[in-house]
Amino acid sequence: MLSHGQGCYVEDVDGKRYLDLLAGIAVNTLGHGHPALVDAVTRQTAQLVHVSNFFTTTPQVELAEALLRVAGAPAGSGVFFANSGTEAIEAAVKLSRRTGRGTVIAAEGAFHGRSTGALALTWKAAYREPFEPLIGRVVHVPFNDEDALREAVAAVGEDLAAVLLEPVQGEGGVVPSTPAYLALARELTTAAGALLILDEIQSGMGRTGRWFAYQARGVVPDAITLAKGLAGGVPIGALVTFGPTATGLLTAGQHGSTFGGNPLACAAGLAVVATIEADGLLEHAREMGEHLAHGIFALRHPMVAGVRGEGLLRAVVLAEPVAAQVMALARQAGFIVNAVAPDALRLAPPLVIEAHELDTFVAALPGLLDAAAGR
Ligand SMILES: *Cc1c(COP(=O)(O)O)cnc(C)c1O
Repeated sequence: MLSHGQGCYVEDVDGKRYLDLLAGIAVNTLGHGHPALVDAVTRQTAQLVHVSNFFTTTPQVELAEALLRVAGAPAGSGVFFANSGTEAIEAAVKLSRRTGRGTVIAAEGAFHGRSTGALALTWKAAYREPFEPLIGRVVHVPFNDEDALREAVAAVGEDLAAVLLEPVQGEGGVVPSTPAYLALARELTTAAGALLILDEIQSGMGRTGRWFAYQARGVVPDAITLAKGLAGGVPIGALVTFGPTATGLLTAGQHGSTFGGNPLACAAGLAVVATIEADGLLEHAREMGEHLAHGIFALRHPMVAGVRGEGLLRAVVLAEPVAAQVMALARQAGFIVNAVAPDALRLAPPLVIEAHELDTFVAALPGLLDAAAGR
């Protein structure tokens, strides 16, 4: 049971300290107890925590403007605020239905949330099957397979509302999309008059060393979904629509949320955006990600089959399916990591993590791998 945290460390109720290499699954962008976040939330709590959505507030408008700016969104773009990633996806599904079409193509390995709508887009059978039938007209295609995408778009034909993809699959094992695959998805959706929606809930907000992972791939989507790291741990989600056509699909009153976009969450989001910019955390995430990957490669450990991912969204790929054991041993040794697949350990530390902190984990890793492999 965890009690408190500071920087990249958390402490449990027994006083044991852990290096947090997961950041609440890519959520605690600024780590724990960051003064900018504490200050923003404290001040906003005294000023205004919540108002009805009959009103806008300064933090809400400013966060929407900041997101549109860092996304490089064109004039006529829009932001809808929700409270979670799942809700951002629900908004995206409703947006896609407003094209007048009904089928969404998603990828095998995808994770988009667990409401009955978002779950239909999620790939993992264990999450989906106990609750079927879910919303219909979802087609899953193998991720990064260009021919399969071409064939699926052709097969769906006139009913294609959207292709919805994670630029870097998170729960699927930290698997980056290839630039060519996203470019093809853009080309096919444009030609079909359908939307390209990118789920940046895990890969966005600087996690991969860019504001959004799609920005390293030269495509412009019709919409992106955000949540996780957006407000550094305060619950929030967002659907960003690009340009007047996509934005105009959902008109006022067609979607809404009581808590969505409340001033408290938006003030936290503004503190995250401002700190990423002021402290150069995009560049820092790229540098630290490289540092981590090089450190792990340099071990030349037989249990390390590779390192996947970008920036500070990484997976250590293991030569044997012992990720769960490594995760448990790591916790005993004071490191929080995640077995995202039987053979993959996910690392998604706060973007403020320093090289010497990462190095303590890299130094401990050979011992953890040996113990997990029973050597
Ligand atoms: C976590 C996640 C979601 C769901 O977000 P919640 O806030 O848990 O509802 C959706 N898509 C991706 C890519 C995620 O990583």
